[in-house]
Amino acid sequence: MTATIMDGKLIAKQLKERLKGEIQSLAALGIKPGLAVVLVGEDPASHVYVRNKEKACAELGLHSEVHKLPDNVEQDKLIDLIRLLNASEEIHGILVQKPLPSHIDDKAVIGAISVDKDVDGFHPVSVGNLLIGDEGFVPCTPAGVMEMLSVMNIDVAGKRAVVIGRSNIVGKPMAALLIRAHATVTVCHSRTPNLAEVTREADIVIAAIGKTKLVGAEHVRPGAVVIDVGVNRLPDGTLAGDVDFDAVKEIASAITPVPGGVGRMTIAMLMKNTVEAAKNLSAARIGG
Ligand code: NAD
Repeated sequence: MTATIMDGKLIAKQLKERLKGEIQSLAALGIKPGLAVVLVGEDPASHVYVRNKEKACAELGLHSEVHKLPDNVEQDKLIDLIRLLNASEEIHGILVQKPLPSHIDDKAVIGAISVDKDVDGFHPVSVGNLLIGDEGFVPCTPAGVMEMLSVMNIDVAGKRAVVIGRSNIVGKPMAALLIRAHATVTVCHSRTPNLAEVTREADIVIAAIGKTKLVGAEHVRPGAVVIDVGVNRLPDGTLAGDVDFDAVKEIASAITPVPGGVGRMTIAMLMKNTVEAAKNLSAARIGG
């Protein structure tokens, strides 16, 4: 069997096309969704991510603002900025790019974002809403995985899913989303013994580890769906996932490539969340 390749580039493009339609309808009502990104310090990877977010906003016709602050910014100054953005009528989504410098308490900063504008889904209230099954913003990468599964008509209800990785950004919200979609979910991590034994039970394997080719053919049951969230930079500068793509594609029924898979979905989902935030915050105008 050779797996169906799940084309994140195409699925993200289709999602962005749908969003363009919604953005045009909002424009007719005088509403322009706006995203503010707060970037602290000079981390080169963060600068690249933020530029990509700005580009996506421009492509879709969203308002975007990038607030760059120096590495040594005081935490209170950063929180003051977030309060201003919370109050701004032009801004519907606020994202604080991580990592933050070590003198800054991530929790205090993320906790200062208005839950209505928490398009990254990292505010403790958003996390709680996801766990109790209430409406709210969901972190963009795992939300992107669910979107890919849905577009590919892969029904997760009643399936056995194994998530490898338990981070707050990917693994844990991924598991919560799969539970919400009625999968039977196991979470594995660095202290899981006999990883392959567990993952071979899965109908759906989701790798969010950060270790090149950790998931090989021996981890995958024939016919399983394999989603690779990992993004690892190889010594030659190219990108590779957590899954040994060439080996696993021979036995999986569907697989995401790296690059061109889940990574493409993350920014598209951020755009979707920003449009959603604008709709929620303008509900009175849309309704009237
Ligand atoms: P993280 O370092 O916070 O978490 C990694 C997880 O992997 C941990 O929970 C750890 O327990 C687990 N792990 C480590 N070694 C393991 C092993 N040998 N066996 C089983 N589990 C093991 O990383 P993260 O932020 O969750 O990111 C994971 C990967 O996803 C990284 O490669 C990251 O670059 C990528 N990522 C991609 C996107 C995207 O847009 N595609 C977004 C976020 C993260």
